[in-house]
Amino acid sequence: MKQKQLIEELLKIVGLDQINTNQDDLYDASADRYKKYAKARKVLDVPQPLAIVYPANTEEVRNVLMFCNENKINVIARGGKTATEGGLENWCESSIVIDAEHLDKIIKIDEYNMQATVQAGVRLQDLEDLVRAKGLTTGHSPQSKPVAKLGGLVATRSIGQLSTLYGGIEDMVVGLECVFPNGHVSRIKNVSRRAGGPPKEVKPSLTKTLKISW
Ligand SMILES: Cc1cc2nc3c(=O)[nH]c(=O)nc-3n(C[C@H](O)[C@H](O)[C@H](O)COP(=O)(O)OP(=O)(O)OC[C@H]3O[C@@H](n4cnc5c(N)ncnc54)[C@H](O)[C@@H]3O)c2cc1C
Repeated sequence: MKQKQLIEELLKIVGLDQINTNQDDLYDASADRYKKYAKARKVLDVPQPLAIVYPANTEEVRNVLMFCNENKINVIARGGKTATEGGLENWCESSIVIDAEHLDKIIKIDEYNMQATVQAGVRLQDLEDLVRAKGLTTGHSPQSKPVAKLGGLVATRSIGQLSTLYGGIEDMVVGLECVFPNGHVSRIKNVSRRAGGPPKEVKPSLTKTLKISW
């Protein structure tokens, strides 16, 4: 599909301000830090995506994915762009990036059950700062913490300096809402991997970690 036709179709799903076709941004979106030298020297050997789309809710993600699925358009999901292993690298001519920039809401901090519900585009540092103010911690501290976002952290099974104590990100996720290419929205309930029931009493301290869901 040509870029002009693609944009016309995407405009039926999202607003004009949610579609980015700036050439510099598309070039930047072609690859991640795995090819940072080639990128900096402007000698990247991969095609540019046709557009970057910024959905603002599940329904928009669903509609964009369904459209791409039906029209054989490749999709690259994107969070904080800290990927170092080629996870954001484009490989085909007909491709778009779905960026989580507008999915940036911290929906709920449940101190009783020690759970946080956040969208995929929330920066880990922002969540950590918020729960720290309450005397809590996410217990997750990768070096990419100031930039990486929850969707990217989960997709890459991130680990950090505190993981020997608190586990990796997969030990912290208790529930998920995810959208499949055919439009099916799967919602996994917020249930801990292991639990003897919710705590009777919560005494906030930095040794208490929150579980994450979105
Ligand atoms: C300076 C630096 C330090 C780092 N330190 C660590 C570290 O300590 N521990 C560690 O584990 N990693 C580390 N990394 C690697 C990287 O930061 C992590 O893998 C991080 O989890 C990626 O998060 P992100 O939001 O930046 O994702 P992105 O870079 O945007 O994406 C990473 C991958 O996840 C996919 N993805 C992103 N969002 C979604 C979504 N919503 N749904 C489905 N797929 C999605 C992307 O398609 C891509 O394949 C580091 C990287 C840098 C540059």
